Amino acid sequence: MEKISLIIPCYNEEESLPYLFAELKKVTAEMPEYDFEMLFVDDGSKDKTLQLLREIGKEDARVKYISFSRNFGKEAAMYAGFCNVTGDYAAVMDADMQDPPSLLPKMMEIIKTGEYDSVATRRETRKGEPKLRSFFARTFYKMINKVSDADIVDGARDFRLMKRAMVDSIVAMSERDRFSKGIFGWIGFRTYWLPYENVERVAGQTKWSFKKLFKYSIDGIVDFSDAPLKISTGLGIFSMLGFLGMLIFALVRTIGYDYPIMDWPLLVSVMCFLTGLVLICLGIVGIYIAKIFKETKHRPGYIIGETNKDDAVSK
Ligand code: UDP
Ligand code: MG
Repeated sequence: MEKISLIIPCYNEEESLPYLFAELKKVTAEMPEYDFEMLFVDDGSKDKTLQLLREIGKEDARVKYISFSRNFGKEAAMYAGFCNVTGDYAAVMDADMQDPPSLLPKMMEIIKTGEYDSVATRRETRKGEPKLRSFFARTFYKMINKVSDADIVDGARDFRLMKRAMVDSIVAMSERDRFSKGIFGWIGFRTYWLPYENVERVAGQTKWSFKKLFKYSIDGIVDFSDAPLKISTGLGIFSMLGFLGMLIFALVRTIGYDYPIMDWPLLVSVMCFLTGLVLICLGIVGIYIAKIFKETKHRPGYIIGETNKDDAVSK
């Protein structure tokens, strides 16, 4: 029998887990032709998530959990999942049921046609999301698609079902600062996009503050594009040209028409402009250097504190 592995990152999800587990039991019962493995990754939760997982693990042998020693972030949790599942197919899904498990039979059906290597989901609307957040999200997707070679779809969820080959290539991308939406797009493979209506989380609170999302979007751009470096070079050239123009103008004015050489307010403003430009460009270069520094330390992406999976590995 073929096996489907479900990877479920959980951070303080004590309220939604009972709903999710009930739903998973229902959906897996509807697909008797497959074996299931449910790998819950507890991302250093501070509530009763781990206790709940221990109980569910005892109740259902298909339930495995890996609990991190602290909060490493959803990206690390997903990576831990990919590294530790054994199924012929794998899917990541949120614990709050915003990635409806009821879509699984449909997704499996599409994969079984043999036309696709993965079925990814896309929210058709951002209903129920704050307007400002939607606006920034949209702008981000427009921008990143312009500047990077990974195909990143607006409204794409991390919820996707994929074949083993795809899971292996994700595991092989062992970078520490992970941006899964970019990784999924970068590795390629034939993907079917399944749209669905946005669902609000079943219980509990979102774990993503605006600040976290902003940092995540910068990571996304820097991880998959060197356009910011090129832009900073462009800005440098542009300001050099401006500087040359000004110089010629000042010289001609002084020599030809006997004007005093530039007045000080103008000089100060040009100086401020140039210093600002240099610092911005240095900052951009710095972001990339910081990334290099982080990657070269080769620290593990996550640390397992507790698990009921004997062969669980840290990577
Ligand atoms: N999550 C996680 N680590 C974190 C933050 C979130 O594992 O540091 C999990 C969370 O438990 C949920 C999923 O990632 O299963 C998506 O988080 P959330 O629903 O808060 O994000 P949103 O859907 O609001 O974007
Ligand atoms: Mg959610």
